[in-house]
Amino acid sequence: MRSFKHLNAKTLETCVTLLQTHHGLAKVIAGGTDLLGVLKSRILPEPPELLINIKEIPNLDTIKEENRTLKIGALARISEIAGSSLIRKNYSVLSEAAKSVATPVIRDMATVGGNLCQEVRCWFYRYPHEIGGRILCHRKGGSQCPAIEGDNRYHAIMGAKKCFAVVPSDIAVALTALDGEINIIGPKGERTLSAAGFYTPMGNALDPDEVVTGIVAPGLPEKTSQSFIKFSLRKPVDFAVVSAACVIKIEGNVCTHVRICLGAVAPFPVRAKASEKILLAKPLNEETIRAAADASVAEAKPLSMNTYKVELIKTITQRALSSLLYKTKEEAV
Ligand SMILES: Cc1cc2nc3c(=O)[nH]c(=O)nc-3n(C[C@H](O)[C@H](O)[C@H](O)COP(=O)(O)OP(=O)(O)OC[C@H]3O[C@@H](n4cnc5c(N)ncnc54)[C@H](O)[C@@H]3O)c2cc1C
Ligand code: SF4
Repeated sequence: MRSFKHLNAKTLETCVTLLQTHHGLAKVIAGGTDLLGVLKSRILPEPPELLINIKEIPNLDTIKEENRTLKIGALARISEIAGSSLIRKNYSVLSEAAKSVATPVIRDMATVGGNLCQEVRCWFYRYPHEIGGRILCHRKGGSQCPAIEGDNRYHAIMGAKKCFAVVPSDIAVALTALDGEINIIGPKGERTLSAAGFYTPMGNALDPDEVVTGIVAPGLPEKTSQSFIKFSLRKPVDFAVVSAACVIKIEGNVCTHVRICLGAVAPFPVRAKASEKILLAKPLNEETIRAAADASVAEAKPLSMNTYKVELIKTITQRALSSLLYKTKEEAV
């Protein structure tokens, strides 16, 4: 690993000033579960000269509900999100997503800010410098994407332009289904982006001098049912091959609020709007669920090795929606 300076920022303002002073050559470090591996493997084309530890900034790890809005600080650990009784009760799709992240040890160190900002898992992108040299693909400012011709079994089937790496964050998928937002601070002040709008075709929308300060999600209508289902290869510790997060409210036998978000299918979380439209103002039953699941892949354009993801997404969406059907039936009894 290349040597670097390490400074503790005690306030967000100090962090932003340090990022500005070392523009493009400093990186924020939180739990370090992603960043340290990335630095060790020398994946980044320009390694940082400074790491700014933000873990000493006070009050950035709170989880609370205020004015019917869920507010989570960027330093809240994934394990705290998974274990929070408030989140389990009112925003269960988020706690299910958090529970599905990595292992208990990693969840205890990993922060929500780091989860949203983690580097993609594309194996060409992550190819270690020591074994044959890093691959300078589009995402690193190069002029190629080896995934197009190469082994692209875990890559995007929708929405990709030059880069086909999928968003690895399970939290981002659940947050999108909750209409959640990401709070950011930088030299020009504070701004907020929607969870899906935070991601760009080549990474995220953060400027090099900006920091994520937290996430927010509006309170949901009462008796909303939520579900997060993820398909991964090694169940206890793995990234999603595909996932689906669903939030539905049924009133008078019809769906009055529907959010369906797909994960690991694109460089950003994907709202399955065609599926949502099929369910809105209709009853949730086997027929509408099947139609909604089929519509979830209407935009899919798989690569040479990932056509299987199309069927998988249909199945996962169908399962997530069916689990809500059973939940609402149980509640009605
Ligand atoms: C074995 C393994 C399995 C995993 N499985 C999953 C999984 O199933 N699902 C999933 O979603 N994730 C998974 N992860 C990823 C894991 O969730 C992330 O590594 C973790 O959340 C990153 O958080 P961190 O605090 O450690 O971030 P760090 O490693 O400290 O930082 C990661 C990146 O985010 C940036 N960053 C951190 N905080 C901020 C901030 N507040 N503002 C701006 N930039 C910031 C850093 O500069 C860095 O680029 C897995 C990781 C491992 C190692
Ligand atoms: S999919 Fe993206 S990250 Fe992976 S090799 Fe292609 S450009 Fe690079």
